[in-house]
Amino acid sequence: MGSSPSNTANTTEEKVVSNGVNHTAPIATKGLAVDSASSPFKVFDFERRVPKPDDVFIRIHYCGICHSDIHQVKNEWHTSKYPMVPGHEITGVVEQVGSNVRKFRIGDHVGVGCMVDSCLQCNSCKKNFEQHCPDTAFTYSSTELDKVTPTYGGYSNFITVKEHFVCKVPKNLPLDAAAPLLCAGITTYSPLRQHNVGKNTRMGVIGLGGLGHMAVKFGVAMGAHVTVISTSESKRDDATKLGAKAFLVSKDAEQLKGAENSFDFIIDTVSAQHDVAAMINLFAFQGVYCMVGAPPKPAEIPSFVLLFKRPIITGSLIGGMKETQEMLDFCGKHEITCEIEKIEAIPEQINVAYDRTLKSDVKYRFVREYFICKVPKNLPLDAAAPLLCAGITTYSPLRQHNVGKNTYMGVIGLGHMAVKFGVAMGAHVTVISTSESKRDDATKLGAKAFLVSKDAEQLKEAENSFDFIIDTVSAQHDVAAMINLLAFQGVYCMVGAPPKPAEIPSFVLLFKRPIITGSLIGSMKETQEMLDFCGKHEITCEIERTSDKRKKST
Ligand SMILES: [Zn+2]
Ligand SMILES: [Zn+2]
Repeated sequence: MGSSPSNTANTTEEKVVSNGVNHTAPIATKGLAVDSASSPFKVFDFERRVPKPDDVFIRIHYCGICHSDIHQVKNEWHTSKYPMVPGHEITGVVEQVGSNVRKFRIGDHVGVGCMVDSCLQCNSCKKNFEQHCPDTAFTYSSTELDKVTPTYGGYSNFITVKEHFVCKVPKNLPLDAAAPLLCAGITTYSPLRQHNVGKNTRMGVIGLGGLGHMAVKFGVAMGAHVTVISTSESKRDDATKLGAKAFLVSKDAEQLKGAENSFDFIIDTVSAQHDVAAMINLFAFQGVYCMVGAPPKPAEIPSFVLLFKRPIITGSLIGGMKETQEMLDFCGKHEITCEIEKIEAIPEQINVAYDRTLKSDVKYRFVREYFICKVPKNLPLDAAAPLLCAGITTYSPLRQHNVGKNTYMGVIGLGHMAVKFGVAMGAHVTVISTSESKRDDATKLGAKAFLVSKDAEQLKEAENSFDFIIDTVSAQHDVAAMINLLAFQGVYCMVGAPPKPAEIPSFVLLFKRPIITGSLIGSMKETQEMLDFCGKHEITCEIERTSDKRKKST
Protein backbone atom coordinates (compact mmCIF):
# COMPACT_ATOMS: atom_id res chain seq x y z
CA MET A 1 0.00 0.00 0.00
CA GLY A 2 2.62 2.47 -1.07
CA SER A 3 1.24 5.82 -0.28
CA SER A 4 1.81 9.46 0.32
CA PRO A 5 -0.41 10.44 3.20
CA SER A 6 -0.72 14.18 3.39
CA ASN A 7 -3.76 14.80 5.53
CA THR A 8 -5.04 13.45 8.79
CA ALA A 9 -8.71 13.49 9.63
CA ASN A 10 -9.56 14.66 13.12
CA THR A 11 -12.37 12.30 13.99
CA THR A 12 -13.13 13.51 17.48
CA GLU A 13 -12.51 16.43 19.77
CA GLU A 14 -11.93 14.15 22.69
CA LYS A 15 -8.28 13.93 23.77
CA VAL A 16 -8.36 11.79 26.88
CA VAL A 17 -10.51 8.87 27.88
CA SER A 18 -10.26 8.11 31.55
CA ASN A 19 -13.11 5.66 32.00
CA GLY A 20 -13.80 2.54 30.04
CA VAL A 21 -17.14 1.40 28.70
CA ASN A 22 -18.90 -1.95 28.90
CA HIS A 23 -20.79 -2.56 25.69
CA THR A 24 -22.92 -5.68 25.62
CA ALA A 25 -24.81 -4.87 22.41
CA PRO A 26 -23.45 -3.86 18.98
CA ILE A 27 -22.10 -0.33 19.09
CA ALA A 28 -23.71 2.40 16.99
CA THR A 29 -20.92 3.93 14.92
CA LYS A 30 -20.71 6.88 12.55
CA GLY A 31 -18.47 6.72 9.53
CA LEU A 32 -17.77 8.57 6.31
CA ALA A 33 -18.57 6.40 3.33
CA VAL A 34 -18.93 6.38 -0.42
CA ASP A 35 -21.62 4.32 -2.16
CA SER A 36 -19.85 3.96 -5.48
CA ALA A 37 -16.70 4.87 -7.36
CA SER A 38 -18.22 8.18 -8.43
CA SER A 39 -20.17 9.27 -5.36
CA PRO A 40 -18.98 11.82 -2.80
CA PHE A 41 -18.52 11.06 0.89
CA LYS A 42 -21.57 11.07 3.16
CA VAL A 43 -22.24 10.23 6.78
CA PHE A 44 -22.88 6.51 7.20
CA ASP A 45 -24.41 4.80 10.25
CA PHE A 46 -23.35 1.26 11.02
CA GLU A 47 -22.49 -0.99 13.98
CA ARG A 48 -19.24 -2.35 15.40
CA ARG A 49 -19.32 -5.77 17.05
CA VAL A 50 -19.33 -6.23 20.81
CA PRO A 51 -15.73 -7.08 21.80
CA LYS A 52 -15.17 -10.84 21.82
CA PRO A 53 -12.70 -12.31 24.38
CA ASP A 54 -9.71 -11.51 22.10
CA ASP A 55 -10.96 -8.10 20.96
CA VAL A 56 -10.05 -4.54 21.77
CA PHE A 57 -12.63 -1.78 21.40
CA ILE A 58 -11.08 1.51 20.34
CA ARG A 59 -12.32 5.08 20.17
CA ILE A 60 -10.69 6.40 17.01
CA HIS A 61 -9.05 9.80 17.37
CA TYR A 62 -7.30 10.16 14.02
CA CYS A 63 -7.04 8.44 10.68
CA GLY A 64 -4.56 9.23 7.92
CA ILE A 65 -5.67 9.73 4.34
CA CYS A 66 -3.52 7.37 2.33
CA HIS A 67 -3.18 7.41 -1.45
CA SER A 68 -4.44 3.86 -1.53
CA ASP A 69 -7.70 5.07 0.07
CA ILE A 70 -8.27 7.25 -2.96
CA HIS A 71 -7.54 4.44 -5.37
CA GLN A 72 -9.91 2.12 -3.58
CA VAL A 73 -12.68 4.70 -3.29
CA LYS A 74 -12.44 5.16 -7.05
CA ASN A 75 -12.25 1.38 -7.58
CA GLU A 76 -8.99 1.70 -9.48
CA TRP A 77 -7.85 -1.70 -8.26
CA HIS A 78 -11.18 -3.26 -9.32
CA THR A 79 -11.68 -4.92 -5.93
CA SER A 80 -13.73 -2.26 -4.15
CA LYS A 81 -16.70 -3.14 -1.97
CA TYR A 82 -19.39 -0.51 -1.29
CA PRO A 83 -20.53 1.16 0.81
CA MET A 84 -16.88 1.80 1.68
CA VAL A 85 -15.55 3.43 4.83
CA PRO A 86 -11.83 3.82 4.00
CA GLY A 87 -8.92 4.41 6.36
CA HIS A 88 -6.06 2.18 7.52
CA GLU A 89 -3.83 4.60 9.41
CA ILE A 90 -5.79 4.60 12.62
CA THR A 91 -4.84 5.87 16.08
CA GLY A 92 -7.04 6.03 19.13
CA VAL A 93 -7.59 5.04 22.75
CA VAL A 94 -8.72 1.70 24.19
CA GLU A 95 -12.15 1.89 25.83
CA GLN A 96 -12.96 -1.79 26.40
CA VAL A 97 -11.04 -5.08 26.28
CA GLY A 98 -12.21 -8.69 25.97
CA SER A 99 -11.63 -11.16 28.82
CA ASN A 100 -8.56 -12.78 27.18
CA VAL A 101 -6.80 -9.55 26.24
CA ARG A 102 -3.44 -9.21 28.02
CA LYS A 103 -1.49 -6.66 25.99
CA PHE A 104 -3.86 -3.72 26.39
CA ARG A 105 -5.64 -1.83 29.09
CA ILE A 106 -8.31 0.83 29.05
CA GLY A 107 -6.72 4.19 28.25
CA ASP A 108 -3.83 2.78 26.18
CA HIS A 109 -2.89 4.68 23.04
CA VAL A 110 -3.12 2.26 20.13
CA GLY A 111 -2.90 2.02 16.36
CA VAL A 112 -4.49 -0.14 13.68
CA GLY A 113 -2.97 -0.44 10.22
CA CYS A 114 -3.81 -2.16 6.96
CA MET A 115 -5.16 -5.43 8.34
CA VAL A 116 -7.52 -6.52 11.11
CA ASP A 117 -7.32 -10.33 10.97
CA SER A 118 -5.60 -13.33 9.36
CA CYS A 119 -5.56 -17.10 9.89
CA LEU A 120 -2.55 -16.96 12.29
CA GLN A 121 -1.74 -20.57 11.32
CA CYS A 122 -0.20 -20.55 7.84
CA ASN A 123 3.53 -20.25 7.18
CA SER A 124 3.31 -16.52 6.48
CA CYS A 125 1.44 -15.89 9.73
CA LYS A 126 3.84 -18.06 11.73
CA LYS A 127 6.76 -16.06 10.35
CA ASN A 128 5.09 -12.79 11.39
CA PHE A 129 4.18 -11.80 7.86
CA GLU A 130 0.41 -11.69 8.35
CA GLN A 131 0.09 -9.33 5.39
CA HIS A 132 1.03 -12.23 3.10
CA CYS A 133 -1.49 -14.69 4.57
CA PRO A 134 -3.91 -15.96 1.90
CA ASP A 135 -6.82 -15.09 4.22
CA THR A 136 -5.82 -11.63 5.44
CA ALA A 137 -8.81 -9.46 6.37
CA PHE A 138 -7.86 -5.95 5.33
CA THR A 139 -9.10 -3.02 7.35
CA TYR A 140 -11.67 -1.93 4.78
CA SER A 141 -13.11 -2.93 1.41
CA SER A 142 -12.53 -6.49 2.55
CA THR A 143 -14.34 -9.07 4.68
CA GLU A 144 -13.78 -10.65 8.06
CA LEU A 145 -12.46 -14.24 8.10
CA ASP A 146 -16.02 -15.48 7.56
CA LYS A 147 -15.67 -14.03 4.02
CA VAL A 148 -19.09 -12.40 4.44
CA THR A 149 -19.03 -9.60 7.01
CA PRO A 150 -17.71 -6.42 5.40
CA THR A 151 -14.86 -4.54 7.08
CA TYR A 152 -15.13 -0.77 7.58
CA GLY A 153 -12.07 1.38 8.09
CA GLY A 154 -10.89 4.28 10.17
CA TYR A 155 -12.94 7.19 8.82
CA SER A 156 -15.24 6.45 11.75
CA ASN A 157 -15.45 6.99 15.48
CA PHE A 158 -15.08 3.43 16.82
CA ILE A 159 -13.53 0.13 15.79
CA THR A 160 -13.41 -3.36 17.31
CA VAL A 161 -10.24 -5.28 16.41
CA LYS A 162 -8.65 -8.58 17.43
CA GLU A 163 -5.86 -7.89 19.93
CA HIS A 164 -3.18 -9.41 17.69
CA PHE A 165 -3.78 -6.69 15.07
CA VAL A 166 -3.59 -3.75 17.45
CA CYS A 167 -0.30 -1.96 18.17
CA LYS A 168 0.68 0.14 21.14
CA VAL A 169 1.50 3.74 20.28
CA PRO A 170 4.15 5.08 22.67
CA LYS A 171 2.63 7.80 24.84
CA ASN A 172 5.25 10.38 23.88
CA LEU A 173 4.05 10.36 20.27
CA PRO A 174 1.12 12.61 19.38
CA LEU A 175 -1.77 10.48 18.12
CA ASP A 176 -2.34 12.66 15.06
CA ALA A 177 1.18 12.69 13.60
CA ALA A 178 1.63 9.03 14.53
CA ALA A 179 -1.32 7.82 12.44
CA PRO A 180 0.48 7.51 9.07
CA LEU A 181 3.20 5.44 10.76
CA LEU A 182 0.77 2.52 10.53
CA CYS A 183 1.12 2.44 6.73
CA ALA A 184 3.76 4.81 5.29
CA GLY A 185 5.94 4.26 8.36
CA ILE A 186 6.06 0.48 8.29
CA THR A 187 6.37 0.38 4.49
CA THR A 188 9.68 2.25 4.69
CA TYR A 189 10.93 0.94 8.05
CA SER A 190 10.61 -2.74 7.17
CA PRO A 191 13.02 -2.89 4.20
CA LEU A 192 15.60 -0.77 6.05
CA ARG A 193 15.62 -3.33 8.86
CA GLN A 194 15.55 -6.30 6.51
CA HIS A 195 18.66 -5.04 4.76
CA ASN A 196 20.50 -3.99 7.92
CA VAL A 197 20.69 -0.27 7.33
CA GLY A 198 22.77 1.18 10.14
CA LYS A 199 25.88 3.13 11.00
CA ASN A 200 28.05 3.77 7.96
CA THR A 201 25.39 2.62 5.49
CA ARG A 202 25.52 4.93 2.51
CA MET A 203 21.81 5.19 1.86
CA GLY A 204 19.96 6.88 -0.99
CA VAL A 205 16.28 7.86 -0.86
CA ILE A 206 14.67 8.47 -4.24
CA GLY A 207 11.74 10.86 -4.01
CA LEU A 208 10.81 13.02 -1.02
CA GLY A 209 7.04 12.49 -0.80
CA GLY A 210 5.01 10.81 1.94
CA LEU A 211 7.06 7.61 1.84
CA GLY A 212 10.38 9.29 1.06
CA HIS A 213 10.35 11.64 4.04
CA MET A 214 9.71 8.72 6.39
CA ALA A 215 12.59 6.78 4.84
CA VAL A 216 14.92 9.74 5.46
CA LYS A 217 13.86 10.02 9.11
CA PHE A 218 14.34 6.29 9.72
CA GLY A 219 17.67 6.20 7.91
CA VAL A 220 19.00 9.15 9.88
CA ALA A 221 17.79 7.64 13.18
CA MET A 222 19.51 4.35 12.31
CA GLY A 223 22.78 6.20 11.80
CA ALA A 224 23.00 5.95 8.01
CA HIS A 225 24.56 8.61 5.81
CA VAL A 226 21.43 9.62 3.90
CA THR A 227 21.35 11.26 0.48
CA VAL A 228 18.06 12.41 -1.01
CA ILE A 229 17.78 11.96 -4.77
CA SER A 230 15.09 14.16 -6.26
CA THR A 231 14.12 15.57 -9.64
CA SER A 232 13.83 18.98 -8.08
CA GLU A 233 16.43 21.23 -6.46
CA SER A 234 13.55 22.81 -4.52
CA LYS A 235 13.43 19.83 -2.13
CA ARG A 236 17.00 20.38 -0.93
CA ASP A 237 16.06 22.43 2.14
CA ASP A 238 13.42 19.93 3.22
CA ALA A 239 15.92 17.12 2.85
CA THR A 240 18.50 18.91 4.98
CA LYS A 241 15.93 19.69 7.67
CA LEU A 242 15.03 16.00 7.85
CA GLY A 243 18.67 15.17 8.51
CA ALA A 244 19.91 14.16 5.05
CA LYS A 245 23.65 14.72 4.63
CA ALA A 246 23.60 15.16 0.87
CA PHE A 247 21.29 15.91 -2.03
CA LEU A 248 21.41 14.81 -5.66
CA VAL A 249 19.37 16.27 -8.50
CA SER A 250 18.48 13.24 -10.59
CA LYS A 251 18.16 15.27 -13.79
CA ASP A 252 21.76 16.47 -13.55
CA ALA A 253 23.83 13.91 -15.48
CA GLU A 254 27.08 15.22 -14.05
CA GLN A 255 25.90 14.85 -10.45
CA LEU A 256 24.73 11.31 -11.18
CA LYS A 257 28.03 10.43 -12.81
CA GLY A 258 29.90 11.69 -9.76
CA ALA A 259 27.76 9.52 -7.47
CA GLU A 260 28.13 6.23 -9.36
CA ASN A 261 28.92 3.16 -7.23
CA SER A 262 28.54 5.13 -4.03
CA PHE A 263 25.43 3.71 -2.31
CA ASP A 264 25.05 0.55 -0.24
CA PHE A 265 21.27 0.80 -0.07
CA ILE A 266 18.77 2.71 -2.16
CA ILE A 267 15.06 2.92 -1.40
CA ASP A 268 13.01 4.03 -4.39
CA THR A 269 9.74 5.57 -3.23
CA VAL A 270 8.65 7.04 -6.56
CA SER A 271 5.55 5.72 -8.32
CA ALA A 272 5.82 8.10 -11.27
CA GLN A 273 7.75 6.90 -14.28
CA HIS A 274 11.51 7.33 -13.82
CA ASP A 275 14.81 5.97 -15.06
CA VAL A 276 15.50 3.03 -12.76
CA ALA A 277 18.61 1.93 -14.69
CA ALA A 278 20.28 5.30 -14.07
CA MET A 279 19.51 4.94 -10.37
CA ILE A 280 20.85 1.40 -10.18
CA ASN A 281 24.16 2.71 -11.52
CA LEU A 282 24.47 4.64 -8.29
CA PHE A 283 24.85 1.68 -6.05
CA ALA A 284 28.03 -0.03 -5.09
CA PHE A 285 28.99 -3.65 -5.63
CA GLN A 286 26.43 -5.92 -3.91
CA GLY A 287 24.23 -2.95 -3.10
CA VAL A 288 20.51 -3.25 -2.40
CA TYR A 289 17.85 -1.51 -4.50
CA CYS A 290 14.41 -1.67 -2.91
CA MET A 291 11.28 -0.40 -4.67
CA VAL A 292 8.28 0.57 -2.58
CA GLY A 293 6.55 2.55 -5.33
CA ALA A 294 5.32 0.91 -8.53
CA PRO A 295 5.86 2.91 -11.72
CA PRO A 296 3.33 2.23 -14.47
CA LYS A 297 5.74 1.48 -17.30
CA PRO A 298 8.66 -0.91 -17.80
CA ALA A 299 11.87 -0.19 -15.95
CA GLU A 300 14.99 -1.12 -17.88
CA ILE A 301 17.65 -3.00 -15.99
CA PRO A 302 20.63 -3.94 -18.16
CA SER A 303 21.86 -7.46 -17.46
CA PHE A 304 25.48 -6.33 -17.09
CA VAL A 305 24.41 -4.62 -13.87
CA LEU A 306 23.07 -7.92 -12.51
CA LEU A 307 26.19 -9.78 -13.53
CA PHE A 308 28.87 -7.29 -12.52
CA LYS A 309 27.36 -5.63 -9.48
CA ARG A 310 25.65 -8.61 -7.86
CA PRO A 311 22.98 -6.24 -6.67
CA ILE A 312 19.96 -7.20 -4.67
CA ILE A 313 16.91 -5.81 -6.45
CA THR A 314 13.85 -6.20 -4.33
CA GLY A 315 10.58 -4.66 -3.16
CA SER A 316 8.45 -4.41 -0.05
CA LEU A 317 4.84 -4.01 1.04
CA ILE A 318 3.87 -2.86 4.58
CA GLY A 319 5.04 -5.22 7.36
CA GLY A 320 3.84 -7.84 9.85
CA MET A 321 2.36 -7.02 13.26
CA LYS A 322 5.53 -7.82 15.22
CA GLU A 323 7.60 -5.50 13.07
CA THR A 324 4.92 -2.80 13.09
CA GLN A 325 5.10 -2.75 16.90
CA GLU A 326 8.90 -2.68 16.74
CA MET A 327 8.67 0.28 14.33
CA LEU A 328 6.33 2.18 16.67
CA ASP A 329 8.66 1.56 19.62
CA PHE A 330 11.57 2.77 17.50
CA CYS A 331 9.57 5.91 16.65
CA GLY A 332 8.85 6.47 20.33
CA LYS A 333 12.52 6.16 21.23
CA HIS A 334 13.65 8.50 18.45
CA GLU A 335 10.55 10.73 18.52
CA ILE A 336 9.78 10.12 14.87
CA THR A 337 6.39 11.13 13.49
CA CYS A 338 4.98 12.10 10.10
CA GLU A 339 4.57 15.54 8.60
CA ILE A 340 0.82 16.06 8.49
CA GLU A 341 -1.94 18.55 7.88
CA LYS A 342 -5.12 18.11 9.88
CA ILE A 343 -8.68 18.43 8.61
CA GLU A 344 -12.09 17.89 10.18
CA ALA A 345 -13.73 14.53 9.59
CA ILE A 346 -16.74 15.81 7.69
CA PRO A 347 -17.70 14.77 4.14
CA GLU A 348 -16.96 18.17 2.56
CA GLN A 349 -13.41 18.31 3.92
CA ILE A 350 -12.62 14.74 2.93
CA ASN A 351 -13.82 15.42 -0.61
CA VAL A 352 -11.59 18.49 -0.81
CA ALA A 353 -8.63 16.66 0.70
CA TYR A 354 -8.90 13.93 -1.93
CA ASP A 355 -8.87 16.47 -4.75
CA ARG A 356 -5.90 18.28 -3.23
CA THR A 357 -3.95 15.10 -2.61
CA LEU A 358 -4.40 14.09 -6.22
CA LYS A 359 -3.55 17.50 -7.62
CA SER A 360 -0.61 18.49 -5.46
CA ASP A 361 0.94 15.10 -5.30
CA VAL A 362 0.09 13.64 -8.64
CA LYS A 363 3.78 12.97 -9.33
CA TYR A 364 3.85 10.41 -6.55
CA ARG A 365 0.60 8.76 -7.42
CA PHE A 366 0.65 5.08 -6.67
CA VAL A 367 -0.38 3.19 -9.78
CA ARG A 368 -0.97 -0.45 -9.29
CA GLU A 369 -0.12 -1.80 -12.69
CA TYR A 370 2.46 -4.34 -13.61
CA PHE A 371 5.74 -3.07 -14.89
CA ILE A 372 8.25 -4.97 -16.87
CA CYS A 373 11.98 -5.24 -16.31
CA LYS A 374 13.74 -5.23 -19.63
CA VAL A 375 16.93 -7.23 -19.53
CA PRO A 376 18.68 -6.97 -22.92
CA LYS A 377 21.34 -9.40 -23.99
CA ASN A 378 24.74 -8.28 -22.98
CA LEU A 379 27.16 -10.76 -21.63
CA PRO A 380 26.23 -14.37 -22.34
CA LEU A 381 28.40 -16.71 -20.37
CA ASP A 382 30.81 -18.82 -22.28
CA ALA A 383 29.09 -22.15 -22.77
CA ALA A 384 32.33 -24.06 -22.50
CA ALA A 385 33.69 -22.27 -19.48
CA PRO A 386 36.13 -24.35 -17.47
CA LEU A 387 35.93 -24.88 -13.74
CA LEU A 388 37.68 -21.60 -12.98
CA CYS A 389 34.82 -19.77 -14.63
CA ALA A 390 31.65 -21.91 -14.58
CA GLY A 391 32.65 -23.40 -11.25
CA ILE A 392 33.14 -20.18 -9.37
CA THR A 393 30.16 -18.57 -11.12
CA THR A 394 27.80 -21.11 -9.58
CA TYR A 395 29.66 -21.70 -6.32
CA SER A 396 29.89 -18.05 -5.35
CA PRO A 397 26.16 -17.16 -5.26
CA LEU A 398 25.36 -20.40 -3.42
CA ARG A 399 27.79 -19.34 -0.71
CA GLN A 400 26.65 -15.73 -0.72
CA HIS A 401 23.05 -16.75 -0.12
CA ASN A 402 23.85 -19.42 2.46
CA VAL A 403 22.68 -22.47 0.56
CA GLY A 404 23.02 -25.42 2.90
CA LYS A 405 21.14 -28.14 4.72
CA ASN A 406 17.37 -27.83 4.26
CA THR A 407 17.64 -25.23 1.49
CA TYR A 408 15.04 -25.95 -1.17
CA MET A 409 17.10 -25.14 -4.21
CA GLY A 410 16.01 -25.03 -7.84
CA VAL A 411 18.43 -25.19 -10.75
CA ILE A 412 16.98 -23.93 -14.02
CA GLY A 413 18.66 -25.60 -16.95
CA LEU A 414 20.83 -28.55 -16.17
CA GLY A 415 23.56 -26.35 -14.72
CA HIS A 416 25.45 -29.43 -13.69
CA MET A 417 28.00 -27.50 -11.60
CA ALA A 418 25.21 -25.82 -9.65
CA VAL A 419 23.60 -29.20 -8.99
CA LYS A 420 26.89 -30.70 -7.82
CA PHE A 421 27.64 -27.80 -5.48
CA GLY A 422 24.09 -27.70 -4.12
CA VAL A 423 24.11 -31.43 -3.40
CA ALA A 424 27.55 -31.20 -1.78
CA MET A 425 26.31 -28.37 0.44
CA GLY A 426 23.38 -30.49 1.61
CA ALA A 427 20.56 -28.71 -0.22
CA HIS A 428 17.42 -30.42 -1.54
CA VAL A 429 18.05 -29.84 -5.24
CA THR A 430 15.38 -29.82 -7.95
CA VAL A 431 16.38 -29.51 -11.59
CA ILE A 432 13.95 -27.48 -13.69
CA SER A 433 14.33 -28.22 -17.38
CA THR A 434 12.35 -27.85 -20.59
CA SER A 435 13.03 -31.45 -21.40
CA GLU A 436 12.00 -34.66 -19.63
CA SER A 437 15.05 -36.27 -21.26
CA LYS A 438 17.36 -34.61 -18.71
CA ARG A 439 15.75 -36.36 -15.76
CA ASP A 440 18.24 -39.24 -15.61
CA ASP A 441 21.24 -36.95 -15.76
CA ALA A 442 19.78 -34.82 -13.00
CA THR A 443 19.24 -37.84 -10.77
CA LYS A 444 22.77 -39.08 -11.43
CA LEU A 445 24.14 -35.71 -10.33
CA GLY A 446 22.28 -36.07 -7.04
CA ALA A 447 19.13 -33.99 -7.66
CA LYS A 448 16.19 -35.12 -5.52
CA ALA A 449 13.47 -33.90 -7.87
CA PHE A 450 12.84 -32.87 -11.45
CA LEU A 451 10.38 -30.38 -12.93
CA VAL A 452 9.47 -30.04 -16.60
CA SER A 453 9.15 -26.30 -17.09
CA LYS A 454 6.75 -26.66 -20.00
CA ASP A 455 4.25 -28.57 -17.88
CA ALA A 456 1.94 -25.89 -16.44
CA GLU A 457 0.48 -28.29 -13.91
CA GLN A 458 3.88 -29.22 -12.50
CA LEU A 459 4.81 -25.55 -12.25
CA LYS A 460 1.54 -24.70 -10.53
CA GLU A 461 2.16 -27.36 -7.91
CA ALA A 462 5.68 -26.12 -7.27
CA GLU A 463 4.68 -22.48 -6.72
CA ASN A 464 6.16 -20.81 -3.62
CA SER A 465 8.33 -23.81 -2.85
CA PHE A 466 11.95 -22.75 -3.42
CA ASP A 467 14.23 -20.83 -1.07
CA PHE A 468 16.86 -20.34 -3.73
CA ILE A 469 16.76 -20.62 -7.50
CA ILE A 470 19.79 -20.37 -9.72
CA ASP A 471 18.89 -19.68 -13.33
CA THR A 472 21.67 -20.91 -15.60
CA VAL A 473 19.83 -20.58 -18.91
CA SER A 474 20.99 -18.07 -21.52
CA ALA A 475 18.32 -19.01 -24.07
CA GLN A 476 15.08 -17.03 -23.95
CA HIS A 477 12.73 -18.31 -21.24
CA ASP A 478 9.84 -17.22 -19.04
CA VAL A 479 11.56 -15.72 -16.00
CA ALA A 480 8.28 -14.52 -14.44
CA ALA A 481 6.93 -18.09 -14.38
CA MET A 482 10.14 -19.21 -12.67
CA ILE A 483 10.03 -16.45 -10.06
CA ASN A 484 6.55 -17.69 -9.14
CA LEU A 485 8.25 -20.83 -7.88
CA LEU A 486 10.11 -18.83 -5.22
CA ALA A 487 8.90 -18.91 -1.66
CA PHE A 488 8.37 -15.64 0.21
CA GLN A 489 11.71 -13.79 0.44
CA GLY A 490 13.35 -16.36 -1.81
CA VAL A 491 16.47 -15.63 -3.83
CA TYR A 492 16.50 -15.72 -7.64
CA CYS A 493 19.99 -15.57 -9.05
CA MET A 494 20.64 -15.27 -12.80
CA VAL A 495 23.98 -16.44 -14.08
CA GLY A 496 22.90 -16.69 -17.72
CA ALA A 497 21.81 -13.68 -19.76
CA PRO A 498 18.88 -14.26 -22.11
CA PRO A 499 18.89 -12.14 -25.28
CA LYS A 500 15.42 -10.64 -24.91
CA PRO A 501 13.67 -8.77 -22.10
CA ALA A 502 12.58 -10.81 -19.10
CA GLU A 503 9.21 -9.79 -17.71
CA ILE A 504 9.02 -9.31 -13.96
CA PRO A 505 5.63 -8.05 -12.78
CA SER A 506 5.88 -5.51 -9.97
CA PHE A 507 3.36 -7.37 -7.80
CA VAL A 508 5.96 -10.11 -7.41
CA LEU A 509 8.48 -7.59 -6.06
CA LEU A 510 5.97 -6.11 -3.65
CA PHE A 511 4.29 -9.26 -2.38
CA LYS A 512 7.12 -11.80 -2.38
CA ARG A 513 9.97 -9.55 -1.30
CA PRO A 514 12.25 -11.68 -3.42
CA ILE A 515 15.91 -11.06 -3.84
CA ILE A 516 16.54 -10.90 -7.57
CA THR A 517 20.20 -10.87 -8.32
CA GLY A 518 22.93 -12.06 -10.60
CA SER A 519 26.49 -13.18 -10.33
CA LEU A 520 29.63 -13.34 -12.40
CA ILE A 521 32.74 -15.25 -11.29
CA GLY A 522 34.22 -14.51 -7.86
CA SER A 523 37.23 -13.09 -6.06
CA MET A 524 40.58 -14.88 -5.97
CA LYS A 525 40.11 -15.81 -2.33
CA GLU A 526 36.73 -17.34 -3.04
CA THR A 527 38.00 -19.04 -6.18
CA GLN A 528 40.62 -20.75 -4.07
CA GLU A 529 38.00 -21.68 -1.50
CA MET A 530 35.87 -23.14 -4.32
CA LEU A 531 38.79 -25.20 -5.61
CA ASP A 532 39.46 -26.52 -2.11
CA PHE A 533 35.78 -27.37 -1.75
CA CYS A 534 35.90 -29.21 -5.09
CA GLY A 535 38.95 -31.09 -3.94
CA LYS A 536 37.26 -32.13 -0.72
CA HIS A 537 34.06 -33.26 -2.44
CA GLU A 538 35.73 -34.54 -5.60
CA ILE A 539 33.76 -32.21 -7.80
CA THR A 540 34.97 -31.61 -11.32
CA CYS A 541 33.57 -29.94 -14.38
CA GLU A 542 33.03 -31.96 -17.54
CA ILE A 543 33.86 -29.47 -20.23
CA GLU A 544 33.02 -31.52 -23.33
CA ARG A 545 29.70 -32.58 -21.92
CA THR A 546 28.66 -29.06 -20.99
CA SER A 547 29.36 -27.90 -24.50
CA ASP A 548 27.28 -30.72 -26.05
CA LYS A 549 24.31 -30.11 -23.81
CA ARG A 550 24.24 -26.44 -24.59
CA LYS A 551 24.13 -27.07 -28.32
CA LYS A 552 21.28 -29.51 -27.98
CA SER A 553 19.18 -27.35 -25.72
CA THR A 554 19.36 -24.09 -27.66
ZN1 LIG B 1 -1.80 3.16 3.18
ZN1 LIG C 1 -2.24 -16.93 7.67
